Amino acid sequence: MRAELIMIGTELLLGEVVDTNASFLAVKLAHCGVDLYYKSTVGDNLSRGKEVLEQALRRSDLVIISGGLGPTEDDLTRDIVSLVTKRELVEDSGVAQDVQNWFYERYGTQTQIPPHNRKQALFPRGSHVLANPVGTAPGFWLDLDGQSIIALPGVPHELKTIFSTSVEPVLLSQTSGQRLVTRNLNFVGIGESRLEEILQDLLAKQSNPTMALYASGGKVRVRLTAKASSQADALSLIEPLTDEIQARTKGYLYGLDGQTLEEVVGRQLMEGGLTVALAESCTGGLVSHLLTNVPGSSSYFQRGYVVYSNLAKQEDLGVPADTLRKFGAVSPETAKAMSEGVRLEVGTDFGLALTGIAGPGGGSPEKPVGLVYISLASSSDTIVQRHLWRGTREQIKNRSALAALQLLWQNSQ
Ligand code: ATP
Ligand code: MG
Repeated sequence: MRAELIMIGTELLLGEVVDTNASFLAVKLAHCGVDLYYKSTVGDNLSRGKEVLEQALRRSDLVIISGGLGPTEDDLTRDIVSLVTKRELVEDSGVAQDVQNWFYERYGTQTQIPPHNRKQALFPRGSHVLANPVGTAPGFWLDLDGQSIIALPGVPHELKTIFSTSVEPVLLSQTSGQRLVTRNLNFVGIGESRLEEILQDLLAKQSNPTMALYASGGKVRVRLTAKASSQADALSLIEPLTDEIQARTKGYLYGLDGQTLEEVVGRQLMEGGLTVALAESCTGGLVSHLLTNVPGSSSYFQRGYVVYSNLAKQEDLGVPADTLRKFGAVSPETAKAMSEGVRLEVGTDFGLALTGIAGPGGGSPEKPVGLVYISLASSSDTIVQRHLWRGTREQIKNRSALAALQLLWQNSQ
């Protein structure tokens, strides 16, 4: 089955609203085993809407329309479908009653129902109404000769509810056979091109599952998508490939799908009965924030210091004034003293420290913006890493926090 999406709304073309409905529908259709070939976005305009729907019906079996089902003048979906399919709009008495009840409940039985609202009970002849339990505008499903048009309201939670309750079960039953299952493998501390090199032969011979790499914000994601006649069969195609990739990328692959690095680090510390304390300068508490985003983090996160000034580094962590004077606040020596200092001060298994220049000012030829030292102290040794990040202040903070979590993850296994 070839599907196509038509997203209706001038606000989408103006960039005021991000089209989250399209990504929701795309994911759902893949899960239902429906091939999505096209997506169009069109403003609230009758003739352009008509043009787009006509085009869709020339090339697709299933057209899903999002938006334009409300009561206002610019809600044109029902008119567009009626015009293109040459099916006049007829009132659904059940929906007309619902609209009437809705008005009577709010404004009393004497109220006149505005004509615009009556419009919400009109549907192209032959449509099935798709009930909207969470809003006033129902959707509709119109079967034509071997093709279908499904129209859903634009409000995201209404669209999601109607799709999940009334559309998805039908599509699943119609597409018995093909299921698309996707798994994401999450990597940190390795670049996209290096990972591509390691997986080169697998990428070259991919067919089912398919494989793709995505990089953003210091992380890389490998997406595996398998198609099979059942979810279990698709998973059994994905499993061996996951194992193979895992074996090649030890120390970089930290989790699957929605798992975050802070969750993975947290679980590892908890399982090992280990604790950590933080000393943050340039990240201003970001690493502590990430670690404490995880429920149950109190069992391993003991304390975090934001030691921004030299004085704070000396007073709170016992960084020697000499070290600061001789090497500066952004130096491997200071990072080391911070991590060892915080570990001793708090009495944890690990002391994790960051010091660097997040910019945009404050850089020098010897110590440019983006220079960050991260140090991890444990009972056996102290590691110091040097990084030189590019990017905005926020990006440098985020990359540093991620690298600190990675260091902790790799050394607490
Ligand atoms: P309503 O009954 O609210 O008028 P409707 O079916 O007419 O429903 P629209 O008017 O097209 O829907 O959109 C209502 C609101 O839903 C928009 O203002 C926008 O905030 C949001 N919205 C519409 N389309 C999308 C989309 N594709 N992705 C995310 N949000 C959307
Ligand atoms: Mg509307």
